[in-house]
Amino acid sequence: MLFYLWAGLALGLLAHHTHRRKALEREAGVELPFSGGYLVRKRGIPVRAGRSDGFSPLYGTVFLRRGVMEGRTVRDVALAAHEAAHALRLARGERTAWLASRVMVVRWMLFGSGLTLAFLLNPAAIGVLALAYGAGLLVIPEEREASREAILILREEGVGEAEIEGARRMLEGYGDSYWLVPIVALALLGWQAVAA
Ligand SMILES: [Zn+2]
Repeated sequence: MLFYLWAGLALGLLAHHTHRRKALEREAGVELPFSGGYLVRKRGIPVRAGRSDGFSPLYGTVFLRRGVMEGRTVRDVALAAHEAAHALRLARGERTAWLASRVMVVRWMLFGSGLTLAFLLNPAAIGVLALAYGAGLLVIPEEREASREAILILREEGVGEAEIEGARRMLEGYGDSYWLVPIVALALLGWQAVAA
């Protein structure tokens, strides 16, 4: 019973978060004179079109969705600046950036084995997947730092303070996913474990 409540609460939190994120994105819809892709390339970081935004430590490349790559809204440019910050921070050898790059690899391995175990109907799958989601909490410090550095990058590019405030609020909203998603996933896995 407690688990149903907990899982319901977690899903409600996620829905609220998604709604708030949309509102913050609308707020950050002002157009800037340059695109997200430009900002990353200008810093000498390889950038490629991808299905989601992210920095791959494996390829040393920033991936941006096409809309973000070519987009000029505060939202697009702020998201690109955040990914560029990850790349710059890892290149500088920042500790949290290094940790995040390692956690990423370990998580893919855990997800891979978790899904294989689930496919084999092995009950250990839940534990392994829980570990994979839980490990996501370790990247929170790096996400915070990257968003902080993204603001410095926008300032460097001469973005106005009003737009910077919009970008800061939007990145903060995105940052909440980094603890919400693992927590919701753990709640659902806990629910599954109890049901099983
Ligand atoms: Zn990030």
